[in-house]
Amino acid sequence: MSMDDLYHEIILDHYKSPRHRASELEGAQVSVHHSNPLCGDELDLRLRVADGAIEDLAFDGDGCSISMASASAMGQAVVGRELGDAEDLAEAFRLMMHGEGHKREDDLADGIAFEGVAKFPVRVKCALLGWMALLDAIESYRGGDGRGSRDD
Ligand code: ZN
Repeated sequence: MSMDDLYHEIILDHYKSPRHRASELEGAQVSVHHSNPLCGDELDLRLRVADGAIEDLAFDGDGCSISMASASAMGQAVVGRELGDAEDLAEAFRLMMHGEGHKREDDLADGIAFEGVAKFPVRVKCALLGWMALLDAIESYRGGDGRGSRDD
């Protein structure tokens, strides 16, 4: 099995069996909605923060397999991390998707599987959707307004 096939399997697995996918999250302090008009992806992300770390999160949405699978892998990679650490990981993912190198491969976990998507510029925003929503949710949490909405 080639790396491409392996990565494809990982993405498919997250799409079919999403982690952290739910329409509600008990005790969530922030909820953000992001969309990717280029593809029609819609994503809601809820975050529960405790002691400066992401205690839990839940995403829900309607979008292509790349966007939903990437949000699932994002959740798996960031739950339990301190906010600043999660932001740093999101930046590492963003750089990878823009072909600007590899950082924190182990921490990105299944997120690494999306590297191949970088070859398809129209799909990069799909893969980034969940991570950009995460950054917005953290910013909203810090800002205290608890609600955000944005087109990526
Ligand atoms: Zn998409």
